[in-house]
This record gives sequence, structure tokens and C-alpha cells, in this order.
Amino acid sequence: MTAVHVPGTPVIEDGRLVSTSPATGVEVGRLPVATAEDVARAVDRARPAGEWWAGLGFAGRRERLLRWRALLARRIEELAELVHAEGGKPLADAVVEIVSAVEHVDWAARNARRVLGPRRVRSRLVLAEFSAHLEYQPHGVVGVIGPWNYPVFTPIGSVAYALAAGNAVVLKPSEYTPAVGQWLVDTFAEVVPEHPVFTAVHGLGDVGAALCRSGVGKVAFTGSSATARKVMAACAESLTPVLLEAGGKDAMIVDADADLDAAAEACVWGALTNAGQTCIGIERVYAVEPVFDTFVGKVVERAGRLTVGPDDADIGPITMPSQLDVIRRHIDDALARGGRAVLGGADAVQPPYVRPTVLVDVPEDSLAVREETFGPTLTVNRVRDADEAVARANALSYGLGGSVFGRRRAVAIARRLRSGMASVNSTLTFAGMSTLPFGGVGDSGFGRIHGEDGLREFSRAKAITRRRARSLLASTTFERTPADVARLVRAIKTMYGR
Ligand code: NAD
Repeated sequence: MTAVHVPGTPVIEDGRLVSTSPATGVEVGRLPVATAEDVARAVDRARPAGEWWAGLGFAGRRERLLRWRALLARRIEELAELVHAEGGKPLADAVVEIVSAVEHVDWAARNARRVLGPRRVRSRLVLAEFSAHLEYQPHGVVGVIGPWNYPVFTPIGSVAYALAAGNAVVLKPSEYTPAVGQWLVDTFAEVVPEHPVFTAVHGLGDVGAALCRSGVGKVAFTGSSATARKVMAACAESLTPVLLEAGGKDAMIVDADADLDAAAEACVWGALTNAGQTCIGIERVYAVEPVFDTFVGKVVERAGRLTVGPDDADIGPITMPSQLDVIRRHIDDALARGGRAVLGGADAVQPPYVRPTVLVDVPEDSLAVREETFGPTLTVNRVRDADEAVARANALSYGLGGSVFGRRRAVAIARRLRSGMASVNSTLTFAGMSTLPFGGVGDSGFGRIHGEDGLREFSRAKAITRRRARSLLASTTFERTPADVARLVRAIKTMYGR
């Protein structure tokens, strides 16, 4: 292993993408960079592989996917080490990430037939002479484009569901974590060695763009909202359907009757896990006036105890070195506009680390409140009541997840959040609940991974009607008579005219 360039920043050397640890600069991955032709070839190879895979049927795919799940579970330490080495994420966080991913592989494998398999649906009186049949068929090849912050959980949220639905997958992992992406592909090939059902292409954004234009049946993108727009534009050229899991600026609301110890504990975890580099991470808190001071005190006390550094510290390095400037800018802007740092602050950014920072009374128009910070920072603002909290939480164009702490009104408040998901009296929990759909609204994207909706997202509904008797009210034929039409009019008035 050799140290190269700016620690953590991927480079291309002799046609190879080289990833390095953001903490140490040690090389972790070296993978061939794909050209646009390579991407097209990968998709061409995946097409017949997908047909073979679809031909295995739900039972055959379930068996293979459960074997992959078992492999992931058995080798969890090995994968966690790789995630830690390549992205800098603390080992314990990597383990939690992989556990969630394993759970999703299991659920998708076990439930695909029930959700997607052929079934009869009811006919209605108007077409009672026909039976109705529904099934969900695969797209063929799905292109998955992934981010670096959860390099196992995030791609698997698409990959496992796409595979369970009968698709082949070509993955473009983030250039910051290509070795983790390749590990997933290689281990899948151990349980499905026959055909290239799940493969990877490596490189920078242009490789992702080539995947969008490669003729895949669908693109599942996870990453920033800015890139999501480019992905959608590229896919628009060929009307390739897209699923966009984009950025967020999730809010937590603390109501007057909240358990403040539980709220502070969950807030610190939800905001600072993975050094705050979490799409559904808590970045803003709105606490109602009567509990504000006590809540902030408890958050500061807990966050102040966290260790920062390499290896088994609570908070690891910032994975993407360029993000350090963004985090610094957000903190400086908040302080310049009158916000106060009650923990961390102006000198919190010490590359490649950022010390936990809690900012209070930050103006709502500051960067730290409005834009994705993606660091171990948090704003906590006081509000009059839960209604004001909801209004502020909903004021941004992002709408991914959210959290509410409280008793009496918490679920009602969670419903009012303009977001795809919410956790009541916890943070981030919805992501690990494989029975629930995951996705956002507005600038956070659209479409859903996970759960039944996630399986349907990677398939298309196929509707079939089948005649089972002669039509009594002949209408869809030129053989109809004026008397048939008159009977039809009478029938519809009887059925629906009241
Ligand atoms: P990014 O948008 O920079 O990159 C994501 C992926 O897109 C990478 O693989 C990149 O190479 C590729 N890419 C770049 N330009 C492209 C183009 N023109 N066409 C196609 N692909 C292109 O995002 P990132 O920095 O890797 O990830 C962090 C972002 O991801 C944050 O905004 C975070 O909130 C978001 N995220 C969202 C979710 C979610 O489920 N909603 C989950 C994790 C991360």
C-alpha cells in the first residue's frame, strides 16, 4: 500500500481509479475506470444475464439472495473494515450500516413473490365478462448510481430490491468508495457465478452519466440534489425512468411533553452519527420555548463527551475533503449572523476532522439552516409551539425525513411534516424498517426504495384481461345496435346515477 495525493480524494492513475483513506491517505482501492463504451458493454452483457436471472423465478432468486445475505452476515467484520478503511467511518457505525443492509436483502428476497407475483384481481360489473390479471415484470437491466456516505446500505437499498424483482444491475459506486462497491459485486458473484447479473463500472461522474445514456431499463440514483437534476436530464433524452434519492436537511421537533433525555440522546445520534454525513441526518432542531434550555443543555452534555479521531473514536474524519470548506462556511455564516456556538464553533474544523458543533438561535435564512451541511453540526432554534416548529421545518425545498419527540401530539405532528418519512421518539429508525418505503419529496427526490413500494419501483405493472364469457352489454364492438347502447345507458344510470 502506498500513500497518494490529498487523503481521501480519489484520483485516476493510468486508467485506474484510486481510493484512499481520508484519515491516513493509505490506498484502499485501485479499479479500472470505465469508458462510455465499457459502460455500454457492461449493460449489453447484463441484458442476457438479467433474462437468465428473471428465468430463475421468485423461488430461485430468493434462494440465491438469501445465500448472499448469509455471506454478508458471516463476513460483516471484513466488510466493516473495508468501509472503515475507505470512507473513514467508525467501525461500529459501519457494522450498524451493514446490519440494516442485510435486513433489506432478507426482506426483499422473502417478499418479492407476494408483492410482485401474478395474481387475479377483481373484475367490476361493467366488464364482468372478463377476468383481470396483474403481475409486476422486471425492467431488464437497472443502473444504480451510488453515493459514498453509506456505501453498503444505500446501493443495497436499490440493488437488493431490483435483483429480487428479477432485474440485472449495473452499479456505479461513488468514486470515493469504489472498493466497497466492488466487494458487493464480487461476493454476489460467489453465490451467482453463472452470469454477470450484478456488475460494477467505476469512475467519476461521467461514468454515471454514461450509465444514464446506456439504454438501461431504469436508473436508480442516490446522491446530491444537484446531480439528481443532471441524472434526470440525461435520462429524459431516452425517456428512461428514474428514481431519485437526493439530499436532505431533516428537522427534529421537540414538543413540550417530550422525554428530554431520550430526545437529547436520539438527537446527538441522529445528527452526529457518521460525522453527520447522513442524508437523513438531523441537521436542524426546533424545540418549544418551555423545554429549549434544558434540551440544549442535555444535547451539549452528550455531544461534548464524544471522541473525535481515527479508528474507534465516535466521530471519524470527513470522507470528502472538499466538504470541510462547506462545513466551515456554514458555521462561520451562522456565527456572523448572530447565532451562538454552545459547543464547538469557529475552530471546530480541524482537517480531516470536525469537532461536534451545536449552534443555537441561528437565523432561519442562514446557510446552516437552509443548506445541507453534511458535518457533525446541528442548529437548535427555539419556537413558540409545535405549529411554529412544523412551519419552520417545512419551509425548505428539501423533504426527506424528520423526527418528532413528544407524547400527546407527536404522531399528528409527524404527519404534518412535509417529508417522505418521520420517526416519532427516535431518529433515523424508518431507514432500517424494511417493511416501510424510503424516499423524499421536493428537492429530496421521488420514487421509493424499501418495502413493497421499493419492490414495485423496480418493476412495471403488467395488466392482462381475459374473456371468460360473452358480453351481455355489447358496447366495444361495431356489431352493437342502438338497443345495446340504450341498455348500456339504462344500466349505467341504475348503477351510478344515484
Ligand atoms: P454526488 O451527487 O456528488 O454523487 C453521487 C453519485 O453520482 C456518484 O457516484 C457520482 O460519481 C455520480 N455522478 C456525479 N455526476 C454525475 C452525472 N452527471 N451523471 C450521473 N452520475 C453522476 O453525491 P455524493 O457526494 O456522493 O453523496 C452525498 C449526497 O447524497 C448528499 O446530498 C446526501 O444527502 C445524498 N444522499 C441521499 C440519500 C437518500 O437516500 N436520499 C442517501 C445517501 C446520500
